[in-house]
Amino acid sequence: MKLHEYQAKALLAGYDVPVPEGSVARGADEAQETAARLGGRAVVKAQVHAGGRGKAGGVKLAGTPAEAADIAQVLIGSTLVTPQTGPQGAPVGAVLVEQTLDIARELYLSITTGGDKRPVVIASASGGMEIEEVAQTNPEAILTETIDPAIGFQPFQGRRIGAGLGIPTSLTRPFIAMLDACYRAYMQKDLSMLEINPLVVTNDERLLALDAKVSFDDDAMFRHEPEARLRDTSQEDALEVQASEADIAYVKLDGNVGCLVNGAGLAMATMDTVKFAGAEPANFLDVGGGASEEKISTAIQLMVSDEKVERVLVNIFGGILRCDIAARGIVDAYGKAERRPPLVVRMLGTNVDEGKQILAESGLEPVMVDTLEQAAAAIGGEG
Ligand code: ADP
Ligand code: MG
Repeated sequence: MKLHEYQAKALLAGYDVPVPEGSVARGADEAQETAARLGGRAVVKAQVHAGGRGKAGGVKLAGTPAEAADIAQVLIGSTLVTPQTGPQGAPVGAVLVEQTLDIARELYLSITTGGDKRPVVIASASGGMEIEEVAQTNPEAILTETIDPAIGFQPFQGRRIGAGLGIPTSLTRPFIAMLDACYRAYMQKDLSMLEINPLVVTNDERLLALDAKVSFDDDAMFRHEPEARLRDTSQEDALEVQASEADIAYVKLDGNVGCLVNGAGLAMATMDTVKFAGAEPANFLDVGGGASEEKISTAIQLMVSDEKVERVLVNIFGGILRCDIAARGIVDAYGKAERRPPLVVRMLGTNVDEGKQILAESGLEPVMVDTLEQAAAAIGGEG
């Protein structure tokens, strides 16, 4: 789960990370009042769960409170398209009106979980740029420090990164304190990502988080009730929201082959199979080990409601989930769904004969296959 910039900044400020002064505004009047309070000049920033707003016209400088009101008027209610939102864009429900800082340098700082499952601090002197871009064009400019969770973040690690970034010595202590605060926030809030891009050094030698993004680990959300209430589903894919409400692990992708699988590993292998066949998966969908008929049906209805889905590949290994239950779920879904894309089904395991019989008698005429190679051929063969 992600937060808006203003919410992420409030969270970080709670750990004593310095952030610019400002407040969220949901209308032009509020934006005007805040800008006036900040002394007239202000930055007005569209609040969406995506970066790249600056270049997309979502971050604007206002010279007067009236100008801040005008900018807010245009932004609020609009749809902002940035390289990170996808072509459909994201709705702007509010803006953050913030003091204008006199920036000397823009740095990049983030914490995420590394490949060895330990938290890793990532920093670069190229703030404002996306880290993926830096990684491609100038990988040696990226500094990393892996943190041992048993002993926590150590000041020497902060000094090392600070020196690598060329932070003035007068700011070494505040920099270490900021990293320490970020690490505490990261751990205590069960974050999977904390990104400050840019972290700025101002001309009057202060360090502030000018932008902030956090992602919570969804599986730990039950431990963070107050933050869970900040979820803004208007920023999420509608199908993914429905799926999460039905406790289905669903991620929408760009292809046209809908995949329904039980088990995350099998789901990955199935997506590989689709790619192997020269097609593209329309989604990742894991109904889990002990799914009920109803859950399978819901999952399929959800999946085929995506207009991009032209074919469906079901790959079920019947263990705890019996094949007959899966088959009944499929039949139920196709009975209710408005779209009925052709089906390829691979089923193995508990009650497989019963499952196959249910499908054979359903009138759905699925292509039944036994191996992943056959599945690939059937998927590829239809176009
Ligand atoms: P995004 O990452 O979505 O483009 P940012 O919050 O990082 O949005 O802002 C983009 C750029 O706008 C920053 O890199 C910075 O140069 C400028 N900017 C943002 N907020 C301020 C501010 N309060 N004062 C001065 N410049 C700002
Ligand atoms: Mg940014």
